[in-house]
Amino acid sequence: MANGGPVEHGYPHLETVRAAVTALYKRLSYDTVRTFASSVPLADVAFGDTDDLHLGAQRVARELVLHFRLPDARMIVGFREMEHAASVELAAGPEYFIELNDRFRRHRRDIGAALAHEVMHVYLHRLGLSFPGTRDNEILTDTATTYLGAGWLLLDAFREDATSSQKLGYLTPEEFGYVLAKRSLAFGEDPATWFTSPQAYTAYTRGLDRARHDERQPPLTAAGWAGRRRYAKDRRHAQEQAAPSAPAGTPYSFTPDDGGPLRVSFPCPTCHQRIRVPVRGRVRARCGLCRTVLECDT
Ligand SMILES: [Zn+2]
Ligand SMILES: [Zn+2]
Repeated sequence: MANGGPVEHGYPHLETVRAAVTALYKRLSYDTVRTFASSVPLADVAFGDTDDLHLGAQRVARELVLHFRLPDARMIVGFREMEHAASVELAAGPEYFIELNDRFRRHRRDIGAALAHEVMHVYLHRLGLSFPGTRDNEILTDTATTYLGAGWLLLDAFREDATSSQKLGYLTPEEFGYVLAKRSLAFGEDPATWFTSPQAYTAYTRGLDRARHDERQPPLTAAGWAGRRRYAKDRRHAQEQAAPSAPAGTPYSFTPDDGGPLRVSFPCPTCHQRIRVPVRGRVRARCGLCRTVLECDT
């Protein structure tokens, strides 16, 4: 887990984040994802400055192991001076050694956040789910931590004041907010009141706007007027061509269906798996991966 440096904002990793959500549904299945309907409550990972450092860290690690249902996994948490915020040794188990940066001795409130990310590394390691390259794999880890209910702690560790800033993890605050919002929309959970950091709350509301934006793209019926008008123009253009090219800058694309009617494909707003439906007016589709029912006007 990375540490320090200026805080990056916006959505530079959005494509990888979306691919990570799709990969989670594919690897875990809808039913398993649904078992994570409740997020880790703050009370389970709260850590006071007077709590015993080592006992407290073990206790919080244990709560996260229980949350992610890794029954036989045992996390051994240590502290040392290191460049990164935290790291975990991905061995055969059942014991896993997590090292936390010495600075957490003085910033105990964020130990739960750091451990959530490291325990997720173990979870994904056991699943055999990874993305190639360190950067993408860390984005997968942060996205999975958040989507499965513990990443709001990582977002809440983002704090800024006039003289300093701190952030954990590889996603930007807005990207954490986006994944958390995707989760809250899918599970009907509202994390808005959980934040202790005002900056984290703001990032969540921005991410929520972005997540809702995904739900208002054509051909979904919730799309706005401008989007629908653009869609109608792109569709007309596609219908005039034998081999339509994808319209630039839109999430949807048109494909001919071997002599059959034109089809439109677009990402599911929940899991980002691509959906293909015929172009024939009002269509109700159900995403095969996350089971979201999609009202479309194609
Ligand atoms: Zn990591
Ligand atoms: Zn879906």
